[in-house]
Amino acid sequence: MDKTLIFATSNQGKAGEVRAMLPDWNILTLDDIGFIDDIPEEGSTFEENALIKAETVFGFSEGYPVLADDSGLEIDYLDGKPGVHSARFLGEDTPFYSKNKKIVEMLEGVPSELRTAHFICVMALLYPDGTHTTVEGRLDGKIAYKLRGTGGFGYDPIFFIPEDACTLAEMPSYEKNKISHRFKALQQIKEILEEYPWEKTF
Ligand code: IMP
Repeated sequence: MDKTLIFATSNQGKAGEVRAMLPDWNILTLDDIGFIDDIPEEGSTFEENALIKAETVFGFSEGYPVLADDSGLEIDYLDGKPGVHSARFLGEDTPFYSKNKKIVEMLEGVPSELRTAHFICVMALLYPDGTHTTVEGRLDGKIAYKLRGTGGFGYDPIFFIPEDACTLAEMPSYEKNKISHRFKALQQIKEILEEYPWEKTF
């Protein structure tokens, strides 16, 4: 069987994480298959957005299975915001330094027990017959009182992990990659791929 999987992303960092987790698979990204269109992320849930990405790319996947993800930060005190709008929150081109500062301001005076937040990553796997499975990975933490650390990306400098007493931006990337929402979703995808009878579908 030709173990090729199309991963609906142009983000080489994410592609590297998937390749490390699925070493038996030939992982092709959107760049590898020449897909350059923008995929609208207009769903109201992470699951809808992951499925929109997977289904959009499926038409170009030559029958290979397609994997797609959608992720974001949910802050309980802000009723789950920024949620599915994490990338666009306060403007797509606004630097994350400003977005993070603004969130810290929005939570000024809010005590530790009410600062709970989580990163969510939903991955959708679309099989060659058009059916699909979705899985969810979650990382719990708290919004820090100020930005801390220079590693990672996005909201990492304000995402505090109480058990490790540091933010994700203060953690080495190999540590973050062992606990992250994306890693937890990917672990489930790995199990599904191991159990699926691919030889019957090609
Ligand atoms: P997407 O899944 O690539 O659409 O990412 C959505 C947005 O969620 C990103 O732009 C980031 O702002 C945020 N995000 C997702 N995962 C992480 C993470 O591990 N650290 C920090 N921000 C993240």
